[in-house]
Amino acid sequence: MTVELISVGTEILLGNIVNTNAAYLAEQCAGLGLSCYYQTVVGDNEERLAQTIETALSRADIVILSGGLGPTKDDLTKETVAKVLGRTMQMDEHSKEKIKEYFTKRKIELTDNNWKQAMAPEGAIVVDNANGTAPGIIIEDNGKRVILLPGPPNELIPMFETSIYPYLSEAEPGIIYSKTVKLCGIGESKAETMAADLIAEQSNPTIAPYAKTGEVHLRITAKAADEKEAKKLIKPVVKELKNRFGMNVYTTDENTTLEQAVVDLLLANNLTVTTAESCTGGLLSAKLINVPGVSEVFKSGHVTYSNKAKHKLLGVKKPSLDKYGAVSESVAKEMAKGAAASSKADVAVAITGIAGPEGGSDEKPVGLVYIACSVCGKIKVKEYNFSGNRNKIRESSVIAALTLMRQCILEHYSEVTFR
Ligand code: ATP
Repeated sequence: MTVELISVGTEILLGNIVNTNAAYLAEQCAGLGLSCYYQTVVGDNEERLAQTIETALSRADIVILSGGLGPTKDDLTKETVAKVLGRTMQMDEHSKEKIKEYFTKRKIELTDNNWKQAMAPEGAIVVDNANGTAPGIIIEDNGKRVILLPGPPNELIPMFETSIYPYLSEAEPGIIYSKTVKLCGIGESKAETMAADLIAEQSNPTIAPYAKTGEVHLRITAKAADEKEAKKLIKPVVKELKNRFGMNVYTTDENTTLEQAVVDLLLANNLTVTTAESCTGGLLSAKLINVPGVSEVFKSGHVTYSNKAKHKLLGVKKPSLDKYGAVSESVAKEMAKGAAASSKADVAVAITGIAGPEGGSDEKPVGLVYIACSVCGKIKVKEYNFSGNRNKIRESSVIAALTLMRQCILEHYSEVTFR
């Protein structure tokens, strides 16, 4: 079934408020297995609102509107929906009582226009609002469903949770089940191209790629009667993606992060690790130390920001620093070697780069980073050119370092070779 969202309010059009209702409703509908192809924002204007509702009804099974249910003249969602559907407005006695109760309890004076909120299109299902005076409305019309919700999120969200979600679950029975294939060491566009035919062909399950810093996640979502059936639908797709992406797949477990996968690899191979960081200033160590159980493998982390520290703590040779500069392949290698030697760790990873915003040159621009990784004495170094601000460059460096560690360990223990 398809759903379309209409957010009503000139404030949203003008950018005075952020349309968090649409984000919330879209996420909830996706979780219910409803396909949302269109979302519209329309101001408090009867003609344009009527047109928007007509268009939505012509292409969706369910239309959810939010906002414009208030007591004032410019709140015209209910009245416009009634007009479009050819229904009269009638007083809903239950809502009238509720509104009276609401005002009496809070000792607020009730004005005539408040009764407007108790009016509902004929034949509508009226939904109580536990946190305000505007009730929600459900109208079933010729196989379509129109749902009207109040604008304030503190009213809309509880109403959706207690009444609308259960209503929609019955309308669209079944469950939604997802699995994520997480990739590292591959760019988003390449990943998408490699899975393009699968993405285009599949309707159940669907495959959606999400780019994260240095990673790509492929989310496979199935709609089925129960979890068992959903898993059955997802299994061959995961298998195919694993075939295509091979070693770039670091996990298919929702809760496993890249750093967790790297620590698992270290534990599985009985390897200890050390870090030597310049521009990332300890971010890599911190990321690894976030993983519970890392104490079994993590020996020490070196933050060697200055040339002096690189020389003194890691034994980087002064001529190398003078000749190639701190941001160079040679220095990255020497940093990794020095860290491995001083901490006697099996794996050492070193990062040196220019995070900016200052310090770049034509020859060595901001974003140039060298990462070296040594596994049991065998060393590999890679050059990267990251974009973005200082934080983004540092974050990208950490993810690239984890990816390189994983590659080096896998290459050391198996016959695989990465690109
Ligand atoms: P009320 O009964 O309070 O008048 P309403 O249903 O008429 O509610 P609106 O008047 O359209 O709703 O909006 C009331 C407030 O709700 C807005 O000022 C804003 O703070 C919030 N709101 C409305 N629409 C949205 C939205 N799409 N996303 C986030 N907040 C919203």
